[in-house]
Amino acid sequence: MYESYWKEVDQKCSVTIPGFQSLSYFANIKNLCWFLEPKLEEEIKRLHNTVGNAIVEDRHIVVGTGSSQLILAAFYALSDPLNESGPVNIVSAVPFYSSYPEMSNYLQSTLFKWSGDARCFNKDGPYIEMVTSPNNPDGVIREPVVNRAKGMTVHDLAYYWPQYTAITSHADHDIMLFTVSKCTGHAGSRIGWALVRDEKVARKMVKFVEINTIGVSKEAQLRAANILEIISLSCQTDNKPHDLDNFFEHSHNLMVQRWNKLRDVVLNNGLFSVPKFPLQYCKFKRDFTETYPAFAWVKCKEGMDCEKLLRGQKILARSGRRFGSEPEYARISMLSRDEEFDLFVQRLSSIRGIGNEK
Ligand code: PMP
Repeated sequence: MYESYWKEVDQKCSVTIPGFQSLSYFANIKNLCWFLEPKLEEEIKRLHNTVGNAIVEDRHIVVGTGSSQLILAAFYALSDPLNESGPVNIVSAVPFYSSYPEMSNYLQSTLFKWSGDARCFNKDGPYIEMVTSPNNPDGVIREPVVNRAKGMTVHDLAYYWPQYTAITSHADHDIMLFTVSKCTGHAGSRIGWALVRDEKVARKMVKFVEINTIGVSKEAQLRAANILEIISLSCQTDNKPHDLDNFFEHSHNLMVQRWNKLRDVVLNNGLFSVPKFPLQYCKFKRDFTETYPAFAWVKCKEGMDCEKLLRGQKILARSGRRFGSEPEYARISMLSRDEEFDLFVQRLSSIRGIGNEK
């Protein structure tokens, strides 16, 4: 979806890295996160200050190969190898991002394990709750649901950007995860970052990345820094390079158009429903807005297998089951290229025919 914006920007954000540059593992040995490129650190701070979506003062920034690596780094940092009650339980409210259970269990660690729906969690002892807001898959703004003394939270704020939802306050949590994948569309650069309050936790997350990949690609960090710089510049009212569209306004408008198209089809065919979202005041846009999630969480009529029904019309979706939910639900990406999105809407509207024939 973001490709057309970046085509317009064209050469202005190209990075050239000569062969002699960035050879070392180290980026800044004085920094707690010694593999974080100073330029990326600066642009992460600038962007959060521009958008107003997270507190960066007095936080440690840990860069990762995507926020995926940082999710595991957070699990590692928050678990205690000496804990007598065994692996720490990891929970998230249904419907949860489908990678959390996979990430928690695939190495069968003795440090942590997946324990399912946070709303059903009733074990004693320490636990980690993943709080995804806006949520993947359903776009809902979330808060922790377990709220017990021994609880730790990781706020996955991959979608807390103005194209998707209202920026209502500077997020201020112990561990906050962000990624360029969802912010700018550069999923292939594999750059994510964590804003971490506690120094000890940040050090353990850095240790995890050190053992796992000895740092994070400098080429990717330098490119990400450039991209973030461009979008911060695009938000300025003064001194803005005059041919640069405000990135968040541009992408927010696209999201509104896409959701309007989808809602029209859903209204007409009567077979599906999609969630509704309240109006909230966005401090970045200085206006009221709804949430326009990166995914449509589509619900079919009772007893239908939504993924199967969609696949019959050549629409690839991920079943609700993968998110701890029922098969009546399926998740569809709203961030495809224009042609793909139009094809999706067209195919979805043709299902009406099938429904009416029966
Ligand atoms: N968290 C959430 C909620 C996501 O939706 C995704 C990507 N689908 C990620 C984390 C991982 O993003 P990445 O590794 O590309 O930064």
